[in-house]
Amino acid sequence: MGNKVWRNPTFEVKDVAVPEIDDDELLIRVKSCGICGSDLHLYEHDDEGYVLFSGPVRLPCIIGHEYTGVVERIGKRVDNFKAGQRVTVESIYWCGVCTACKSGAFNQCKRVELVGITRNGAMAEFVAAKERHCWDIDCLADRYDAQQELFDIGALIEPIGCAYNGMFITGGGFKPGATVVVYGVGPIGLAAVALARLAGANIVIAFDCIDTRLDIARTLGADYTFNINSLTQDSAASQVLAITQGVGADMQIEAAGAATYTLPQMQQAIATNGKVIYLGRAASTATLTLDRLVTEANSIIGSRGHSGHGVYHYVIRLLASGRLNVSAMITARYPFKDVIDAFQRSTDRRHGKCMIAMQ
Ligand SMILES: [Zn+2]
Ligand SMILES: [Zn+2]
Repeated sequence: MGNKVWRNPTFEVKDVAVPEIDDDELLIRVKSCGICGSDLHLYEHDDEGYVLFSGPVRLPCIIGHEYTGVVERIGKRVDNFKAGQRVTVESIYWCGVCTACKSGAFNQCKRVELVGITRNGAMAEFVAAKERHCWDIDCLADRYDAQQELFDIGALIEPIGCAYNGMFITGGGFKPGATVVVYGVGPIGLAAVALARLAGANIVIAFDCIDTRLDIARTLGADYTFNINSLTQDSAASQVLAITQGVGADMQIEAAGAATYTLPQMQQAIATNGKVIYLGRAASTATLTLDRLVTEANSIIGSRGHSGHGVYHYVIRLLASGRLNVSAMITARYPFKDVIDAFQRSTDRRHGKCMIAMQ
């Protein structure tokens, strides 16, 4: 795992060859690529210099996995795409032949490659991608300006897909009228707020420690937002209990990567049959009273990725129809020449999504 292996990696911009494509691959000219929390966890390190990212990492690697582009060229065996088409690509490169994949659990692929982390990603002029991971986004042209906005919005499908998958596929969804709480409103948490609103939550509550992100959460549909730093110890849970008249939350989403704090708070304010969806990736532990899981029939569900189950298809449809409007998530945009600066500036976590305009 990356945080036990890699120390003090450096980031640089340099010339590389245009990737060769296999017969089942597309060569994509990249247009927009988002900076993800995982990318920042490769950029930042702990006191001993180890990267913070706790998943698999293979270096050197071209970073970037939340991207859109235009098909430049297709391999001989590609059937469903043609040059000039606008596409986005899943970042979970599932193998299709391991037992997890053959059981339909693509996100749990035992030989998974992570784009931009274990294989070359999209902060480059060109990237190669297998047809089976690519999705057509031409339909977004009806709603978004095709020069820039379409590619930026399309590059949000990957993080939105992670929230969608956790809440509605792995997590099994919630009933219209439910109370949904989101801890951590970075891009995935913001997507969770927007999806909760859209899926019929009665009350959406968001916690973070950065006011600018909480402002975006309100724009995307949160009814109540709280800055954790302005609350006293343990009072996140008491806010949820007060708002729900003691009933607690039906679904709580951990998108903060701060489980040591958030999970005990969630447990104190969970409804009967309530679910915790654990999306935040961090090598952390949390103390829970397991007996309460039994008495309240609660569940804690871990989730990774966005592949399979039509997740991309559903998200693309919601964006194309305008029902899911996440434009407020993008708060900064840098040209590729300033990418290193963009990483540095993103470390303060004030941004929703910081987008890199590749060309
Ligand atoms: Zn990501
Ligand atoms: Zn597999």
